[in-house]
Amino acid sequence: MIYIKKDYNDIPKNLEKNQNIEGSTKYNSTDVKNKLFKIYNGKCGYCETIIDKSNSWATIDHYRPKKEYPFLCLEWSNLIYCCQKCNSCKHDKFPIELKDRQKDPKNKKDLLANSDYLKQENPYLLNPEIQPEKPEVNDFYKHLEFDNQGKIIGKTYEGEVSIDVLKLYRDELQIKRMNLICNTEIFLFLCLMIIFEEPDKEEITNLIPDNVDFYFDKEMLSVIMKLFDSKVNKFKILFDWFFKYNIDLKREFILLRKCMFYKFKEFFLNDRSITDKKRHTILEAYDEYLDDINQDNKANSSQNEISNNSHIEKKSVIMDNSYYENKKIINKLKYYISFSEKTVQNADKAERILTNNKKTVLRSDSSNEIASSDVFIAIYDENYKKNNCTELDKALNIKNKKKEFRIIIIVISNDDKKKLGIDEKYKNCCELYDESETGYPIVDDYTFVEVIQKVIKNET
Ligand SMILES: [Zn+2]
Repeated sequence: MIYIKKDYNDIPKNLEKNQNIEGSTKYNSTDVKNKLFKIYNGKCGYCETIIDKSNSWATIDHYRPKKEYPFLCLEWSNLIYCCQKCNSCKHDKFPIELKDRQKDPKNKKDLLANSDYLKQENPYLLNPEIQPEKPEVNDFYKHLEFDNQGKIIGKTYEGEVSIDVLKLYRDELQIKRMNLICNTEIFLFLCLMIIFEEPDKEEITNLIPDNVDFYFDKEMLSVIMKLFDSKVNKFKILFDWFFKYNIDLKREFILLRKCMFYKFKEFFLNDRSITDKKRHTILEAYDEYLDDINQDNKANSSQNEISNNSHIEKKSVIMDNSYYENKKIINKLKYYISFSEKTVQNADKAERILTNNKKTVLRSDSSNEIASSDVFIAIYDENYKKNNCTELDKALNIKNKKKEFRIIIIVISNDDKKKLGIDEKYKNCCELYDESETGYPIVDDYTFVEVIQKVIKNET
């Protein structure tokens, strides 16, 4: 839920004409709907999903239900643009603190949703058109927030009641929010990779998924290009996106987007593939950026409005497995961050398969994760230099302390095995796979996956 500015004096004609008729259905006329559609940027006032006005999903909700408050049936300030799901969850529910509900007032001014008369009821359901007192982050962040899985959390009693009444924990919302977080994570990792690794443009273009429309919008792609072209202030470009463009009001789930920015560390930096050094650098840049915007806010107290970008966000396609599809890409990107040797390129595939089997995989630069890892996996081919066995030694040390820890080594040829001295040193504590033994040409990506699957099968 975000704050929606509505002019209570700019009343649609149909409402003004019929305002004394109780129980009238004139509130549902086209001019009312069109006006609400515009004010609400085509999104449900409660759950923030995009709803087309021509669609039967677009409904008009009476904030105070017409059953309990028939005199508010045609009251402009009582009408909220709302999706069918939120509307049917809410139904006639309207919990208030006051023992009895307010009656039809004598003074017409008291019909306004923000009048002292109606506010005396102390409603528990949040109203998107009434900005919370002392709002944090200009919005309902005071009442509602999200965790990094897209789960909605009530921070106040009103927040909790609103989640409950509108069922804002609904599966379809949860999946959409999870996808958004995942999408943002992919984007963020891509940006971080550009900032830290300075790869060439072509390499990155190859990484961007083919169905780019689904993952990134125009704004995101332009950020990527800006990052390539800019020599300085790269973090500013990235955080500007988070803070300014990402919260264009036409997009879905603005509150979640704000939450991702303000809980940036919690959402994105706890990932084990980010080294401490990088984490430190990112956080420093983030704090600096926060300082800057706080100062800007002080200098310019009317910071509330975010410029209206012209495009509407592409509706995300909801597929059951899209979350996992996204995760795969994240892993692919993370590989680039955590490894510099291309020879272990297949490790991300292994990790993907193994993590799907609920195994934690030790990656070479994540020493702090050793205790919780289950598997170490390494691929050695002709490019892998002899003196690079240190990570294997690290794995051996863990094996000595933790019996159930598995070391899987895949070598491309017997020659490599000899070069690495793998037979002698690691014979009894590792699972060795090579082409000659498995019959698979491991260099081939597809069969590599098969080998890993075989490894897992043998275990169960
Ligand atoms: Zn809704």
